[in-house]
Amino acid sequence: MISIVGIGPSRKDITLRALETIEKADVVIGYKRYIDSIEDLLSGKEIIKKGMGDEIARVELAIQKHFEGKKVALISSGDPGVFGMSNVFFQLIGKYSGLEVEIIPGVTAANYGASLLGAPLHDFAVISLSDILTPLSEIKNKIRHAAQGDLVMALYNPLSKTRKEPFREAYKILMDVLASSTPVGIVRSSSGEPEVTITTLADLAEDQIDMSTVLIIGNSTTYVEDGHMITPRGYVIRSSLHPLAQEFYENYLAGETVVGPNTQCEYYPCHEHPQNCTFCYCPFYPCGDGSTGGRWIKDKGVWSCQDCEWIHQDDTVECIQSKLPDIVQEVDDLKSHRKKLLKLRRECMSATKK
Ligand code: SF4
Repeated sequence: MISIVGIGPSRKDITLRALETIEKADVVIGYKRYIDSIEDLLSGKEIIKKGMGDEIARVELAIQKHFEGKKVALISSGDPGVFGMSNVFFQLIGKYSGLEVEIIPGVTAANYGASLLGAPLHDFAVISLSDILTPLSEIKNKIRHAAQGDLVMALYNPLSKTRKEPFREAYKILMDVLASSTPVGIVRSSSGEPEVTITTLADLAEDQIDMSTVLIIGNSTTYVEDGHMITPRGYVIRSSLHPLAQEFYENYLAGETVVGPNTQCEYYPCHEHPQNCTFCYCPFYPCGDGSTGGRWIKDKGVWSCQDCEWIHQDDTVECIQSKLPDIVQEVDDLKSHRKKLLKLRRECMSATKK
């Protein structure tokens, strides 16, 4: 049996199944640095260390040892299926018959980086910026489409001492498509313990990154709270309707509320002039999603909308009004159709993205 074993990003993140597989192996083959990182597991085994770029040779050796009747662990950092050894192995599998192979998954840098940053991944793309095997034009095309599709991105192999152009080209595209304030998580593992930084696309600098870095580029809804990077999925937070909101929506549904700026209101502008007051009480409250500026008031269990300007934009109001009558016909629908309402909120966020 040849086991292609993902050992994750570091010795302490290796999975139980990977440990058991390595323990049972007669021969362990891998890139020198990865083998050195699991040295404590290798006593009594035949160890074959190879250099970077010797991937084909490692696979051929693994197959040779397998045909000699040995149990082989072919080591891959991270996960074998994500820029790891599985791909090169299966490219050669057609050359041989009688191969027995299994893949032991590992923690890839996207998951590892995300775990240190908070909850940045929602729908996401994993893209390597290494142009050693992939033409730069293909990398650029993928980056542009991922950015235009509003996917969060995990960028691997972003920059080396000699290979800077792919990062520079990718950065130009990201700045062209995304807001410069888009949060970016940097997880750099070159010195052993990971260094974690959260910055913005505008402030992302080359001296913060290297080949051992994974970059997590947020999407249009990603925000930073308490030093964590969050891309909200939109879970429903149950809450009762405030009596003033109840009264407001009774009047709204009767067509008796002000549409547009309510300059007669003693609190106008409670946000910034000019503001559209049509949804003086937000139909999505409490959305629990800080991407439009709302925040929990700590230790009070209260959601504050003080910094949400989005609900008072004309295009937001127009979008909500075009669909709200399908969802809310009576005030109780604001409670019973929370999921539909939060989906409408996302739809309108996307439609009004600046
Ligand atoms: S006003 Fe903004 S932050 Fe508050 S619930 Fe509505 S969308 Fe969310």
